[in-house]
Amino acid sequence: MHPDDPTEVPVPAAVPPVHSPPMVPVLGADRPFPVRRVLCIGRNYAAHAREMGDDGREPPFFFAKSADAVAVMPAQGGTWAMPPRSADVHHEVEHVVALGAGGSDLSPADALACVCAEGVGLDMTRRDVQAGAKASGRPWTTAKDFDGSAILGPLAAIHPGVGVRASGPITLSRDGVEVQSGDLSQRIWSVPELLAEVSTWMALRPGDLLFTGTPAGVGPVAPGQTLTGRIAGLPPLHVTLTA
Ligand code: MN
Repeated sequence: MHPDDPTEVPVPAAVPPVHSPPMVPVLGADRPFPVRRVLCIGRNYAAHAREMGDDGREPPFFFAKSADAVAVMPAQGGTWAMPPRSADVHHEVEHVVALGAGGSDLSPADALACVCAEGVGLDMTRRDVQAGAKASGRPWTTAKDFDGSAILGPLAAIHPGVGVRASGPITLSRDGVEVQSGDLSQRIWSVPELLAEVSTWMALRPGDLLFTGTPAGVGPVAPGQTLTGRIAGLPPLHVTLTA
């Protein structure tokens, strides 16, 4: 036995029973959404991206958060505790889509038809840790995939004939001051394009969430602050930060 190990043999923990995924309320549906996996896209908003057309577009890149990283906020708002081991935790407000179906090598149209709900999310990020990971070429896991790092408000079911939002304002207010703002139409890669691309790397499945990128204005948060994320026509996301 290693000298630093306990000298008394502990009673081992029991193998756990099946555990349940996070469940997210869905307005307009008869049951909540069970989270299977959380996929996120890196930088996806750029000034004048529309005018640039397809030329020069880098292929989208993705990272993931664990389903257990999802923190569901009730409609009236909830609290969120600051994570340890970071002095620079940032907010990233994002349009999130939820999949009720999946598949591989999907066309954009078929991928879009997999979306059953959408909502406002926050891709919380240990920016200092991420900067270190980028500099050293190491993974982003501890920067992006920590407990509670995928904050979600209530989702809204997709209405047949209306579909997933492709345009409309997206904003984030910190203590009542708007710090992030953009329009969903400014995304470099659209929701159907993103889902189709992901489906060439891995099979999409019911229960998957996609965070579709954040507009300009990301910044640090501190205990005591309140965050409100809004996308026109969707339930807002209210969060109060605690130590
Ligand atoms: Mn993000």
